[in-house]
Formats: sequence, C-alpha cells, structure tokens
Amino acid sequence: MAQVFCIANQKGGVGKTTTAINLAASLSTLKQRVLLIDLDPQGNATMGSGVDKHQLKSSVYQVLLGLEDIQNSKYRSESGGYDVLPANRNLAGAEIELVDFEHRESLLRAALAKEHVNYDFVLIDCPPALSLLTLNGLCAANGVIVPMQCEYFALEGLSDLVNSIKQVHANLNSDLKIIGLLRVMFDPRTALQQQVSDQLINHFGDKVFKTVIPRNVRLAEAPSYGLPGVVYDKASRGAKAYVEFAQEMIQRAGIKND
Ligand code: ADP
Ligand code: MG
Repeated sequence: MAQVFCIANQKGGVGKTTTAINLAASLSTLKQRVLLIDLDPQGNATMGSGVDKHQLKSSVYQVLLGLEDIQNSKYRSESGGYDVLPANRNLAGAEIELVDFEHRESLLRAALAKEHVNYDFVLIDCPPALSLLTLNGLCAANGVIVPMQCEYFALEGLSDLVNSIKQVHANLNSDLKIIGLLRVMFDPRTALQQQVSDQLINHFGDKVFKTVIPRNVRLAEAPSYGLPGVVYDKASRGAKAYVEFAQEMIQRAGIKND
C-alpha cells in the first residue's frame, strides 16, 4: 500500500515544490516507487521533474474532472526516477468547474484508490492556498509534510494550516495527521532563525523533523535544467540534506528499507 503525503503550506515560496521534487528523487534513489502529483496550476513540480507542462496530453486536471485516470495521465521523470502526474494552467479553472460536482473534495482520493499497489510513496505538491485543490490533497493523504522558513511570521501562518488540517481530520479524512514540520532554507548564522527554530521545537516537539534543509543555491539552480537538486549536484549540501530527509521519512512512515 502506498503512503500518501501532502506537502502543504498556504504561503508561497516556502519550499514546497523544492521539497516535493527532491524528496521524490531521493526516495527513488533509496529504491522506493514514487508518484509525484502536481496540484499547483503553476506546474513547477512538473517542469522541475523534466516534464514539459506545455506538451501534456493529459494531466491532473483531466483526472480530477473524471475524464482520464492516473495510468493514462502520468509521465516519467527520467532524471528523477519517479512518475509524475503533471499540472499546467488548465488546473486553474478546475476550482470553478468542480463547483457542481458531488464529493468534489475527494476526487483525487477516488482516483488514487486504484494506484495504491503501484507505489510505495505518493507525494502531492499543493498550491499556496487553502483552496479546493489543497483540500483534495488533504483528503487523499495519510499525512502532511509542512516545509517552512524560520521567519518571524512563519508561526502565525502555521496555526491556520493546523486548524484546516484538524477540520479535515474531523470531517473528511480521519487518517490525516501532521507527519512533521521541515525547516528549509535554513541559515544557522541568523539569530532570528535559530530563535524561531527553538520556538518551533518547544511548541511542536517531535513533530519537527530532525533534518534541516540549508539554504543552498544548487537547489535553486536545478529546476531551470529540469532536474531535481539531488540529481543536478548530488554532492551539494542541499542534496545531502534531502537524502537524509528521505531516510527520516522512510523511518517515520514505518517502511523497511533494506
Ligand atoms: P513553493 O513551492 O512553496 O512556492 P519553492 O519550492 O518553489 O516554494 O521555493 C521558492 C524559491 O526558493 C524557489 O526559487 C526555489 O528554488 C528556492 N528555494 C527553495 N528551497 C531552497 C533552498 N533550500 N535553498 C535555496 N533556495 C531554495
Ligand atoms: Mg510550489
């Protein structure tokens, strides 16, 4: 059975997509079968996996509308070694087109039900909003990974996300839990970041992943080559941190890795 994880934070630019791509590629080097679902109309996870969002015959949009299934819509990230259910601008219209659909919050969950045997991990890269698309991600998932920068306003935004996750847990998906908070773009020389990181650990304890992703320019350069950072420069500090994070995820997910 696949474990399904949403990578969510309603703030933009906090490292969701970078985490999704690099976790997918790192898990694949650790011999896990991975499907990465791009739920953001910007299609950054798609392009960053080396799949051209302008040339899609089918995408997550068709899957949500029930026009295609995942089997016929997935692509292979050759560089990353994982499958991608891609997204492009079409997806931006889905919120409105789905208004009259029954169970419109659980369309992705229904589509995924058939795929569980094919993967060890399904990772869902969410858009930067608590929208119907994100709700579809949360309803389909066993757990949420929350990437965050240790900045002053980070904790404030977190409570909205935590409340949304609680509501989804109570009303729509009793499986859902926060797997962990991932500190990304971390610069230990900044006193404020250290302070926020300490606060985070005080407040969330074990829910804060041990692995910390440093700010590392190689991770930022990689998407323009259509490569995961861990493939583009696997000796970089950022790449090593994501591989370590994948190992921590395998442990937390309770999957044996031998
Ligand atoms: P989101 O998906 O949350 O909007 P992204 O993953 O797209 O965030 O990251 C936002 C920007 O920060 C991108 O330009 C990305 O390349 C860069 N970035 C992400 N993580 C790191 C990191 N650890 N070090 C340096 N740059 C990063
Ligand atoms: Mg993104």
